[in-house]
Amino acid sequence: MSADVRQVADGTYLVHGGNTNWVILTDGDAVTLVDTGYPGDRRALLDSLAAVGSSPEAVAAVLITHAHNDHLGSAQYLRATHGTPVLLHEAEVPHARRDFLQQVSVGTVLRNVWRPGVLPWMVHVLRTGGTEQHPVTTPAPFPADGALDLPGRPVPVHTPGHTDGHCVYHLPDAGVVISGDALVSGHAISRTEGPQLLPDLFHHDRTRAIGSLDVIAGLEGDVLLPGHGPVHRGPVRDAAELARERAF
Ligand SMILES: [Zn+2]
Ligand SMILES: [Zn+2]
Repeated sequence: MSADVRQVADGTYLVHGGNTNWVILTDGDAVTLVDTGYPGDRRALLDSLAAVGSSPEAVAAVLITHAHNDHLGSAQYLRATHGTPVLLHEAEVPHARRDFLQQVSVGTVLRNVWRPGVLPWMVHVLRTGGTEQHPVTTPAPFPADGALDLPGRPVPVHTPGHTDGHCVYHLPDAGVVISGDALVSGHAISRTEGPQLLPDLFHHDRTRAIGSLDVIAGLEGDVLLPGHGPVHRGPVRDAAELARERAF
């Protein structure tokens, strides 16, 4: 699977892997990588860095929205191979180490296999290593509050619910919100297009996930880069409010 790399703003690229997205923020040839796809997306991940004129050695840090396998897939690979720091919200650090797992179980997925799209999605997940565990041995919390001193100067914003330590990353100057799985614009097993919460079975705490949409609605921006689905353009506030309406 080759990478589908799309420039969405100055120095900002949304990459579509098989069923999940990651984001590359560039500053010269140095980059910040936000999420890393499934373990099986590694070739596409490395290709995407080359496509923006960078390389794995030039990744200043990997930021993780949350420690699910479809976002954490190559974090430990980059950590172990290139010494890349892997940063997450402090509540997500033990999740990245796999001290516990807040991810939908295979049993729950199997009970939902009659739903449209679930079976092909499950086959894809298995093919891309979605049930393999690749814990990060030394994940780190953000060093301080506010903008991180990294390419793109992303600001982590805690949006718990999908997992306890889920964060979105706000780029205030570019008007971009990287929303991970707190707010998506589509999913292989959803028949809805546009801003929405992921299907219920994927959330650790759905009520909290709905509450976090209010946090996202408070972020200035007009480009939404979700963990699943295409780029969504238009006020981020409206996108979050639409997802909230659809959640009830
Ligand atoms: Zn997730
Ligand atoms: Zn995801």
